[in-house]
Amino acid sequence: MNVRYALSLLIILFLFLAACDSGTVTDTDENEFSFNHEINPGQSATEFLTDDDFDQLIVQVQYMQGYEPTQEGLSNLEVFLNERLNKTSITIMTPEEIPASGQSSYTADEVRDLERDHRSQFSSENRIAAYFIILDGEFENADVLGIAHFNTSMALFGPKFDEVSSGIGSPSKEDVETIVLRHEFGHILGLVNNGIDMQENHQDTENGRHCVNDECLMY
Ligand SMILES: [Zn+2]
Repeated sequence: MNVRYALSLLIILFLFLAACDSGTVTDTDENEFSFNHEINPGQSATEFLTDDDFDQLIVQVQYMQGYEPTQEGLSNLEVFLNERLNKTSITIMTPEEIPASGQSSYTADEVRDLERDHRSQFSSENRIAAYFIILDGEFENADVLGIAHFNTSMALFGPKFDEVSSGIGSPSKEDVETIVLRHEFGHILGLVNNGIDMQENHQDTENGRHCVNDECLMY
């Protein structure tokens, strides 16, 4: 990676990840299996990190037409999860296409409704499920690449990826995806100071659940 390329990647991260925390979510009633998929990001960090309740992980990925994620981005996410989670098996499903909705922007509540319409993989006896939805519009509330919108759910805003990875000297779509997929998963794993206690104080409190170190994934 050359200097100019690295620099442009850093600038993009600074611009688009600076405000990507999601809003608050109201707790809903527990379902039969007693796993609630609609609580705040970070609240299931322990269930993802340890094998106490779930020794397997499945990740469902759905994308709107035209915004299929790259295999490289997903493979890099799998490597990241394998290195950090105490699971006997981690499966990232083949991405599934869902109908485009044609909206130019989405609120967090609209993202949650789309998940309710389309998501089909949920946590079961030994296996916890995570979910990515890739949308055909941008986020209404902030200029970001992605958000974590529930305890097991993350959304990416497809057109933003094309925007930041097009042009001479821009990082590749694969590299941007790798960083954003990992960053949003970091939020549901309890980073930063959002469900898992910090080993040292590095929270950038002015920017929500983010880190003060500009070389950190959660900056
Ligand atoms: Zn973030």
